[in-house]
Amino acid sequence: MSRFFSEKYAALTPYVPGEQPRDMQYLKLNTNESPYSPLPEVVEAAREEAARAHLYSDPTALALRQALAERYGVTPDMVIAVNGSDEALNFAFMAFCDREHPAIFADITYGFYPVFANVNNIPYEEIPLRDDFTLDPEDYVRRPGKTVFIANPNAPTGLLLPLADVERIAASDPSRVVVIDEAYIDFGGESAIRLIPEYPNLLVTRTFSKSRSLAGARLGFAVGQPALIADLETLRNSTNPYNVNRMTLAMGAASLAHDDVNMQNCMTVAGVRDQAAEELRALGFAVTDSKTNFLFARHPAVDGETLYKKLRERGILVRHFSLPRIAAYNRITVGTAEQMKTFTAAVREILEDPS
Ligand SMILES: *Cc1c(COP(=O)(O)O)cnc(C)c1O
Repeated sequence: MSRFFSEKYAALTPYVPGEQPRDMQYLKLNTNESPYSPLPEVVEAAREEAARAHLYSDPTALALRQALAERYGVTPDMVIAVNGSDEALNFAFMAFCDREHPAIFADITYGFYPVFANVNNIPYEEIPLRDDFTLDPEDYVRRPGKTVFIANPNAPTGLLLPLADVERIAASDPSRVVVIDEAYIDFGGESAIRLIPEYPNLLVTRTFSKSRSLAGARLGFAVGQPALIADLETLRNSTNPYNVNRMTLAMGAASLAHDDVNMQNCMTVAGVRDQAAEELRALGFAVTDSKTNFLFARHPAVDGETLYKKLRERGILVRHFSLPRIAAYNRITVGTAEQMKTFTAAVREILEDPS
């Protein structure tokens, strides 16, 4: 830290992304990327736009917002385009939280939430999930006036909160904003977007990173009633009006034009996921009922960190979190069927020789 760094950030602990090592080729099952590369049409769209990179991107992202509005049955003024859904989440913390409206979220959820709260000097409360990692909606209903952040399905547990519970929380206090982070919803959940016409306090954030093979392009969006979206637009235009670059805007639109392929890929991943979960259970793992593109699993005979390290030695990266409640677990991104075969074979080897 330099002596110039503002005191208000001195105590900040930044978010730690999953490792992206360069020392060798790994089978990367640690950052929940798609195993499928973008379609050639999507790559071509970026190439064409690159030739116009001397011009700023459309600061209103209108074409993409129109395409998203059509895809989700809303109007373009109900959609904001962002540089990865992380940006929408940060804007939501900025826009809808303060000393009078603290944030609340689960103790085991996306690790970025406390970081967003801290960087924006927002008080927050972490609400413990039940022992089986399910979320009790009553915990949120009982805390009126707090801005709610729920990843649904949750990460890293993979568990889906039924839409009726999301609705119950949104309905319980119309004076607070409820943010539903649907980064993984395309892998097996029902989106809360359809509740938005009824709930002016409901904001849904989405990303192209997981289900649309565009993690490296940085593209996300949020959906809410026009007034909520206007608040986020005020913050976007007060920080970075060209937040989404023109190559990414074009890739997003091209990707949506072939969204049937994206959704088919998600179905394939979900099938591979369920199969891999069964194989892990047969090996003695406890595996949560994931509705995402990752598995969350622990084995009674090998602790989470040891398994992580032994897989890493074999060139396979998974994500281990040292948080006490989940230290026994690893989060394993679902790759192709072949990649998962490599993974389960390595796990079998490790279990046979646990020395
Ligand atoms: C990956 C992820 C995000 C952020 O994705 P972006 O790449 O920033 O769009 C948000 N929430 C959760 C729970 C995630 O896992």
